[in-house]
Amino acid sequence: MTAPTGPVAVLDAVAPAPFPTGGHVGLTAHPSVLPVWGETADSTLVCRRVLDITHDVKTFLFEPAAPALFHYDPGQFITLRLQIGGRAVDRCYTISTPPTRPHLIGITVKRQPGGLVSNWLHDTMGAGQRVSADGPFGLFSAAHHPAGKYLFLSAGSGITPIMSMTRTLYDLGSDTDVLFVHSARTPSDIIFRRELDAMASTAPTIRVAHVCERDSPREPWVGLRGFLSGEMLRVLAPDLHERDVFCCGPTAYMAAVRRALVAAGFDMGRYHEESFSFEDLTVEVPPVRVDGDGVHEPPPPGAGAPTAAFSVEFVRSGRTFRCGADENVLDAAFAAGLTPPSSCGQGMCGTCKTTILSGAVDMQHQGGIRPREIAQSKLLICCSKPLSDLRIDS
Ligand SMILES: Cc1cc2nc3c(=O)[nH]c(=O)nc-3n(C[C@H](O)[C@H](O)[C@H](O)COP(=O)(O)OP(=O)(O)OC[C@H]3O[C@@H](n4cnc5c(N)ncnc54)[C@H](O)[C@@H]3O)c2cc1C
Repeated sequence: MTAPTGPVAVLDAVAPAPFPTGGHVGLTAHPSVLPVWGETADSTLVCRRVLDITHDVKTFLFEPAAPALFHYDPGQFITLRLQIGGRAVDRCYTISTPPTRPHLIGITVKRQPGGLVSNWLHDTMGAGQRVSADGPFGLFSAAHHPAGKYLFLSAGSGITPIMSMTRTLYDLGSDTDVLFVHSARTPSDIIFRRELDAMASTAPTIRVAHVCERDSPREPWVGLRGFLSGEMLRVLAPDLHERDVFCCGPTAYMAAVRRALVAAGFDMGRYHEESFSFEDLTVEVPPVRVDGDGVHEPPPPGAGAPTAAFSVEFVRSGRTFRCGADENVLDAAFAAGLTPPSSCGQGMCGTCKTTILSGAVDMQHQGGIRPREIAQSKLLICCSKPLSDLRIDS
């Protein structure tokens, strides 16, 4: 994590509110003595309330099952670990609420036609229900990229990380200039429409524009129409080159945004995006070395030469297999006929997290594991290549 300076430094270090606002958390202890959720043994969440946001989007608010406060960077996500129909399934959902409200976290989920988890959440999740979760994870946050001016771009459910960042800046009374341009199919698909308009009408630093493809049956759209274009960006943000851009939405939308920015001569070093599709992810962080003593440091020169192969022992399964130095432990385990839990395959969701008992790996994760966990000899086997023979708690 970077140590930001400047206007949004506070994004990264939001203190718990001095007074509890509700829920058992607030009634049992003063917030200052509560542990941080995710750093305690029990990371179970209890659903407190479900909010209807649009016709196919709901927000699920959760509190910790054991007294704790939430602490995270706006833009981070959690991984839900569910049992549906007797099957274990994991899905990532961005925390759409801001860290300035540490008693509850909210995820905002769009129903995907035919989708397993989004429909299950919409149809069955209700107040009092418990879910297993892990996190917070992820590096997509304005907290890591302090700037005086942001251009926030989102489409569809990609609004969630941007909403968390905007709510945070709003709650903090930040002087940071925010231009938030959200794209939706129709006016009735605009997620958080009234709240965004309320923030824009009360905070002089926040401007919101919606772009809709077409009218909805009940509301003809009078605003910007079509797909977000370079021309729209030029009109909305004549000061584009002074802004850091955060973008989240469908793959085609983000590709169009990138093309428009490149065509405008924008410095793409100030462009940050998050995809909700694991296939689209790119590695952004340097590797760390993890060994059985929890030591983490850059891999030694020459380590991991492609010709080497190492022995990997999954201690609990009682299985040992070979893994090439240029191969991820997870892939080698699959090749050996093992099926350890995994989901994203990119070092992002934390599903394949386990402990290294001896040996060392070169791990290239994307925020799916915390520094504290690495120090405790945890690793994500989907993005770890062996640097020696390994014994793993799996
Ligand atoms: C970092 C991150 C953050 C995210 N944040 C959010 C968020 O804030 N809000 C949100 O709504 N989502 C978010 N997502 C997406 C979310 O994790 C799920 O992918 C999404 O809810 C769909 O899951 P599902 O189980 O409903 O659909 P799935 O069952 O995974 O199916 C997805 C789609 O594929 C189709 N499909 C499924 N199986 C098949 C098949 N065999 N053949 C053809 N098509 C098939 C389904 O019909 C559906 O349209 C995020 C993802 C990531 C990686």
